[in-house]
Amino acid sequence: MPKQSPVPDALSKPFWDACNEGRLIMQTCGICNRMQFPPEAACSQCKSKDHLMWREVSGRGKIYGYAVMHDCRIRVLQADQPFNLAIVELDEDPGIKMYSHLPGTPVDEVPVGASVRVEFEATPASGQKVYEWRVVK
Ligand SMILES: [Zn+2]
Repeated sequence: MPKQSPVPDALSKPFWDACNEGRLIMQTCGICNRMQFPPEAACSQCKSKDHLMWREVSGRGKIYGYAVMHDCRIRVLQADQPFNLAIVELDEDPGIKMYSHLPGTPVDEVPVGASVRVEFEATPASGQKVYEWRVVK
């Protein structure tokens, strides 16, 4: 389904640039060895601003849970209503949660706990690629 184009800012630009290259990266604190998403100006645990780095992750995760969206205000998504809105947790750190529409999975037939793999999809407005997740068969 077509999606909104994110507008990268200074903080999120490395993340979105990596998406355009087909890579998933996570902001990681070098002191706590801990990942956070979305990116922030400082580590949310130790508050350090000087030890944040980007780390590439495997792009594998599991479905934590889901809902079905029947009506939302985002016009570009309305043609595909109702649609899945799943929460995916990263294999490297289940504390990292990302949303997905689970392309290829029929609405309301989401296999909670199943393995998923990241993929990248170009958005119509700007061509910026965004992450999406697909159930691994
Ligand atoms: Zn930290």
